[in-house]
Amino acid sequence: MADLEIRSVPVLSDNYVHLVHDPEEGACAIVDPAVADPVLAELKRLDWRPTHIFCTHHHNDHIGGVLDIKRATGCTVVGAAADRHRIPGIDQAVVEGDVVKLGHHTARVFEVPGHTSGHIAYWFGNAHALLCGDTLFSLGCGRLFEGTPAQMWASLCKLRKLPDATRVYFGHEYTKGNVDFALTLEPDNQALRARAEEVGRLREAGRPTVPSLLGSEKAANPFLRADVADFRNAAGLADRDAVAVFAEIRGRKDRF
Ligand code: ZN
Ligand code: FE
Repeated sequence: MADLEIRSVPVLSDNYVHLVHDPEEGACAIVDPAVADPVLAELKRLDWRPTHIFCTHHHNDHIGGVLDIKRATGCTVVGAAADRHRIPGIDQAVVEGDVVKLGHHTARVFEVPGHTSGHIAYWFGNAHALLCGDTLFSLGCGRLFEGTPAQMWASLCKLRKLPDATRVYFGHEYTKGNVDFALTLEPDNQALRARAEEVGRLREAGRPTVPSLLGSEKAANPFLRADVADFRNAAGLADRDAVAVFAEIRGRKDRF
């Protein structure tokens, strides 16, 4: 079985559209097409024929190009059953534990409410790739528009269980701002300082910080560390439970 090839296309001010390609079968999924034209142009350049659109959630900066791409290519639109009414052109409605085929590969669906109530993530286990939209960012997480801190914390814990070698394909280039915030909480965390240096180098060179490694996120991302003693002590939050710690740091980030 040939490896999946994944390209991340920067669009709008800071969004990423990810292209997931199985070269053997010629299948290709477009994940969260915010816009159509730049995505179709990149697919043409790569000579990849789109067969699917995978939607993580209904926000316009993730679905804006869905209908135009579907019209142009006839590809199948996959999205959360819970969001059937607000994912345009949805053909395949999926729930927790469903397995979506892409050529020889399969992605498992996780329901990860918090940023929105119907948010889902796609995990290609054999290819060690997680497409997580606006739930998990490098050193950050999505804002809580439609969910509670308890829901988002549970969603992040679900993703945290995946193997360290998982490459995380997130929806926005927010990493530099996230680094600055994370360092206010845990300035002596060596994994965070190493990632901060790497992010500084990448951004100076005009390069994306996507994908990141889940193992590095577990060690450095404050929003995956609300129940970790080292983090709670460093942040001065040792007396609260994990959900309260998560809620506190999410609130601080909103005001940062
Ligand atoms: Zn969003
Ligand atoms: Fe977004």
